[in-house]
Amino acid sequence: MCGIYGYIGRNSINEVMGGLKRLEYRGYDSAGIAFIGDNLDCEYADNNEHIKRFKNLTVIKSEGQMSCLEEVINKCLPIGDIAIGHTRWATHGKPSVANAHPHISKNGKWVIVHNGIIENFEELKKQFSPKRFVSDTDSEVVAHLLEKYYDGSALSTLNKVCRMIKGSFALAVLTTYEKDKILVAKYGSPVVVGCDEEAGVVCSDLNSIKVGKCAFILEDNQFAVVEKGNVSVYDENLKPKKLKNMADCHREERGNLGNYSHFMLKEIDEIPRAITRTIEQYNSYEKMRTVLPLNVVRKIKKILIIGCGTAYHAGLIGKRLFEEIGIKSEVEIASEFRYNTFIPEKNTLAIFVSQSGETADTIKALSKCKENNLLTLAMTNVKNSSICFVADRVIYTSAGAEIGVASTKAYNSQVALFYLISSYFKSVLDDNAKDFDREVVKLLDVAKVISHNKIKPICQKVADEIYQSKSIYMIGRGLDYDLAREASLKLKEISYIHCEAYPAGELKHGTISLIDDKTFVFSFITQKMVKDKTQSSEKEISARGGKIIKLTQFEENNAFMQLSLPEVEEKYMPLIAVVYMQLISYYTSVRLGNNPDKPRSLAKSVTVE
Ligand code: GLU
Repeated sequence: MCGIYGYIGRNSINEVMGGLKRLEYRGYDSAGIAFIGDNLDCEYADNNEHIKRFKNLTVIKSEGQMSCLEEVINKCLPIGDIAIGHTRWATHGKPSVANAHPHISKNGKWVIVHNGIIENFEELKKQFSPKRFVSDTDSEVVAHLLEKYYDGSALSTLNKVCRMIKGSFALAVLTTYEKDKILVAKYGSPVVVGCDEEAGVVCSDLNSIKVGKCAFILEDNQFAVVEKGNVSVYDENLKPKKLKNMADCHREERGNLGNYSHFMLKEIDEIPRAITRTIEQYNSYEKMRTVLPLNVVRKIKKILIIGCGTAYHAGLIGKRLFEEIGIKSEVEIASEFRYNTFIPEKNTLAIFVSQSGETADTIKALSKCKENNLLTLAMTNVKNSSICFVADRVIYTSAGAEIGVASTKAYNSQVALFYLISSYFKSVLDDNAKDFDREVVKLLDVAKVISHNKIKPICQKVADEIYQSKSIYMIGRGLDYDLAREASLKLKEISYIHCEAYPAGELKHGTISLIDDKTFVFSFITQKMVKDKTQSSEKEISARGGKIIKLTQFEENNAFMQLSLPEVEEKYMPLIAVVYMQLISYYTSVRLGNNPDKPRSLAKSVTVE
C-alpha cells in the first residue's frame, strides 16, 4: 500500500522510477513524480493532462500501472537532480490523475507525497477557499498548509504543520525555497531515509531503499532532512537525534519470476521450502528460548492472537492448537480489537501476526496491549519491519519475499510456526524437550508431503468448473472451518467471486436458503471427529441441488467432485489442504483473465487503518 521514493543526486528521476517499481509489490492504483526543474520536451508537455509545470517544479502523474507513468516520462525525458515519487492506494477520492500524488501548493513552491490518512483534513481545509483544491484527497491540504505557514525555514514549517494533523503520515516534501533537500516527517506510517556519498534517499521500506552508507528507520514524531551525502534526523522539538544505521542489515531478495507466469504460482510452489526454512530457524529448544525463555513460558496463562485477513486466519488455527494443550486462547481481528472493550488478564502473551510487519491495524492493536502491560510477541516475515520495533519479542517466518498480494507461503509458514510455538509451550510445561524435537521432525516431514505438480491438473479442473459461479460456499467444522475461512478469502480476493465460509452445522440456520442447483459448495472433511456431522451437512446441501466439491483424505465417493488429500497426522491436515485451495483460487483467477498477483483494490502491505 502506497510507496514513497525520493532521491537527490544524479539521474534522480530514473532512480525514483526504479524505487517506485521496487515498491510496486505493495499494491497501488496510480502513480506520480515531482522534480525541481522543467526541462521537458515542451511540445509534448504542453496541454498534457498528466503534466503540470510551475516555475521551478514539474509534476507528472498517471492513473493505473507504473508503465503508464513511464510512458509519459519516456516521451518527455525530463532531467532533474532532486525528485519525489509516489504510488497511491486510494483512501480518499477515487483513483484518478487529479487525486494521484504528488500534490502541489497553490504558489507552486511546495510539493508533497503522503502515505496514511489525515483524519482531520476536512477541518483543516476550512482555512482555505474550496476553489483552491484540485483533488478529493485528504493529503492535498498539507501542501497548502506548508504554503500558508511558511516561516522562513522549511523544516520548522513542516514541524508546525505536522502538529496540526490528526491521523497517520509518512510525508516527503520538496520546496523551491530550499532546493537541495527532501524533508521527511513520520507518524504511524513507515518511512526510511538514507544516503550515499553522492546521493540522499527516502523510501517506504528498508528492503527497497538502495544505499550503502547509511539508512535510518524513522520513528513516530521524527523528522529528517535528506541531502546529497547526508541525512539529519530530528525529534518532535527539532533536536538532532541519533538512530541506528541499518545500511548493512540483511535485506530480503525480492526474487524474480523465473519461468513462472505469476508470483502467486511461484510462491505456492515455494511452500515446502518456506515451511522448512521457518522451522529450521527454531529447530531446537535453545533457539526457541531466545524468543521465549522458559521462565516466561511457565508464567503464561492465556494466549491472545491478533491479526488481519490471512494472518488472522493463521491465528484461528493457533488458537485451537493452544487450547488443545490446555492454554486458554482468544483470537481477534486487529481493527475490531482496537475499539472493543478490553479486559486484560494477567500473564497473557499477546501474539501479533503480520506478514509485512507494517499492518497499521495490527501495530495499533499491539500498542493497546502494551499500554495494558501485556507481554507482546510479533510474528512477521520481514526483518526490521515496524512491528519488530514495537513488540517486546519477535519470531520470524522465513518464507522469503512474498510478492503476490494474496498471501500463500507466508500463511503456511505462520501456521507452521503456531504448531511449533504451541508444541514448545507443551514441552516446557511438561518439562519434556524430546517432544519438541519430535514436533520439529514431524513438521519437516509434513512440508515434504505437499507435491504441487501432481495436484495442479485436478485443481485446474475444479477452476474450470467453478469460474462462472456467482456465489460459492465453503463448509467445515473445527480446524476445517478455519481452513474454509482462509480458502474462501483466497478465492474471493483474486477471482472476485462472492464466496463465504460457513461452519457446517450453522448452514441450516440461515444460509442454506441460498443454495440451489447452480451453487458449488466446497466441503472440507479432514478431522475424523466431525466427519459424520459434516457429511450430514453435505446431504442437506445435495438435497437442495447444491454441488459438493469435497476435500478429504478419507475414502468417500459421494460428491460432485472429490479431491483426495494425502494423509498426514490430522492436526496438520489444514496445512496441506489449503494448498489445493490456493491453487484452485489461482487457476480460477487466471481463467477469468484477472491478474492474481495484483488483484483490484487490494494492497500487499496495509499501512493505513
Ligand atoms: N490518503 C491518501 C490518499 O488517498 C494517501 C493514500 C496512500 O497512502 O496511498 O491519497
